[in-house]
Amino acid sequence: MSETQADVEIAEMSGLTLGGRRLAVLDRVRIYACGITPYDVTHLGHAATFVWVDALARAVRLLGAEPEVCRNVTDVDDVLDEAARRAGEPYDAFAAVQQYYFDRDMAALKVRDVAHEPRAHRYVDQVIRLADGLLAAGAAYVRHGSVYFRGEPAVRRSGLDLEAALRLSAEYGGRPDDAAKDDPVDVAVWQATEPGHPAWESPWGRGRPGWHAECAAMAMSVFGPVVDVHAGGADLRFPHHAYHAAMAEAFTGVRPYARAWLHAGTVTIAGAKMAKSAGNLVLLEELLAGHPAAAVRLMILDRPWAESWDYRPELLDVATARLENLYQAAGRTAASDPAAVDEMRRLLATELDVPAALDLAIGTGGGPARTLASVLGLS
Ligand SMILES: [Zn+2]
Repeated sequence: MSETQADVEIAEMSGLTLGGRRLAVLDRVRIYACGITPYDVTHLGHAATFVWVDALARAVRLLGAEPEVCRNVTDVDDVLDEAARRAGEPYDAFAAVQQYYFDRDMAALKVRDVAHEPRAHRYVDQVIRLADGLLAAGAAYVRHGSVYFRGEPAVRRSGLDLEAALRLSAEYGGRPDDAAKDDPVDVAVWQATEPGHPAWESPWGRGRPGWHAECAAMAMSVFGPVVDVHAGGADLRFPHHAYHAAMAEAFTGVRPYARAWLHAGTVTIAGAKMAKSAGNLVLLEELLAGHPAAAVRLMILDRPWAESWDYRPELLDVATARLENLYQAAGRTAASDPAAVDEMRRLLATELDVPAALDLAIGTGGGPARTLASVLGLS
């Protein structure tokens, strides 16, 4: 074997590319996935994100490393408080029931259990420590019992213009019009107490953690200053992930906080984002009632992970037919083909290219098809 060939093989053995970034890995890959706010049933948009995270973890294992997934539960959240109030239940009891349904849906989709599942209400002390550290670093300030994080650097790094940043901030509960802030792009690390929301004691008075700060505190508590991959739906890119990363980096001084990002494409219906307010939710429960879970998984995975896509019922029929082809290929007694298995590994290591890996597995049959069915959680 020539030296060049050996170099290529070592490069392929030692990592993957994600979002155009080369991610060299040794033995453990820390994956932080922004989990659910448990206030409603699981829809296809949520499911797509967590199936992709699961596929990433399985691909990492195929490459010989050990994935360690942390998927948080945002059970301290203004939207959750409102849903619990409407249901006439305490926020934590309400969240626990919704969490149960989520776990059931994930199990039905063969999403493997995660190693860590921190719940925001257990990390209030860590958010207080985070706020204190951000104050000490000069990245935050106190006003009327709230601690605000200076958001200008995060907006600048996002590449968004100010108008777009403020629109997204308002859409995701960032309250840009809060008069207590020095700058509309600043966000609460700690929010002073308000009626209708849970509250805890802090050095700045009673209050509750801000959303981005909760995730930053949970990720750093579980994994330390850096994660290998931070994953979540593409709609979390800004403000949530931008502020999470900026807070973590300001607190630890370590940059970048995430070595790579996996932003799963948004699922739309007739071009519109799936949202309860739009009345266009496709519930996982309904999909699973009419189709095998493997077909739902394959419909999600048989495409580039970063691209948004429009759900249509026919896509499930296409996925069911493709699944059948894979199963038939897996049943063929083809001669063992180590080169095909290596090529499949390379395809998955390159942007988790499931469509190309499927084409190869179906074309080759035998071992590679069986391996892929297992790796993708389809067998
Ligand atoms: Zn998050």
